[in-house]
Amino acid sequence: MALHRITTSTWGATFKRAKLVYTAVVRPAITYAAPIWFSPAGAEATKNNLIDKLNKIQNRCLRTIAGAYKATPTPLLESETDIPPIRTHLAMLQAQHQARTKNLPTRALVKKACKRIQMQLQGQRGRQRIRKTTPGNRKEAWFDSLGIDSTSRQPVRIQIRKWAQEQWTKEWEEHRDKIPPDKRPTAYTNRMHPSIHDGLTKAESSLAIQLRTERTGLKAFLYDRKVPNVTATCTCGHPRQTVKHVMLYCLDRSDRTTFLGRLGLIDFYYILSNKDTLLKPLR
Ligand SMILES: [Zn+2]
Repeated sequence: MALHRITTSTWGATFKRAKLVYTAVVRPAITYAAPIWFSPAGAEATKNNLIDKLNKIQNRCLRTIAGAYKATPTPLLESETDIPPIRTHLAMLQAQHQARTKNLPTRALVKKACKRIQMQLQGQRGRQRIRKTTPGNRKEAWFDSLGIDSTSRQPVRIQIRKWAQEQWTKEWEEHRDKIPPDKRPTAYTNRMHPSIHDGLTKAESSLAIQLRTERTGLKAFLYDRKVPNVTATCTCGHPRQTVKHVMLYCLDRSDRTTFLGRLGLIDFYYILSNKDTLLKPLR
């Protein structure tokens, strides 16, 4: 895959660049003409196995962009890269398309012609029932149900983006709430502003995401993933070598007091959610 080649070549595309390749080249290709084939709701809802295939492609790309471990949960991969689930993105494309074509004169013309044909057919076949709802009608009805207000001062395009963002947040929170609060890595506690990656090298971005998702080369994670011949014990003797342990408590990290002293705080989640503090332990 092109994206993979770009990011793993010797110079290594940064997070920002790799993400741009995905959103500007790969995603438009895999969602091409989506308003025609994708239906967000009702009986015509697009089959899950097609969406699953697109999901797999997107996941592979997001892992490459993030430099994240395979074990990183998809919702975290999406929130850390700030790229919505593919189904949400497809629904947004459909909504934008509906908004664009809603009041076009051609649509009214087509509708009128369809109606005339329908009436003629009804006339010929007597009382034979003609299907009234078409997939096109259903997509329109779906769009009308979103509550987009074309008379609002806020542009429709922005309203649709907001709607998609809300859908995403709702799903993401449902996923998060299934994980016990004490087992949630930083990435679930504080969502990070994507600009945090500005100016970071690829390695720094990857490490930041690995620390925030706790999917990293530390021994507690490797042990949980059942990597052979690995124990969860830290070099200092602590039973679990986690991100939090290494950053805040490990006796073997003599530089820790130095960087924590420099930070002047030990709010773990804060450290891993702000660019200034995140970079210090990385560098
Ligand atoms: Zn330790």
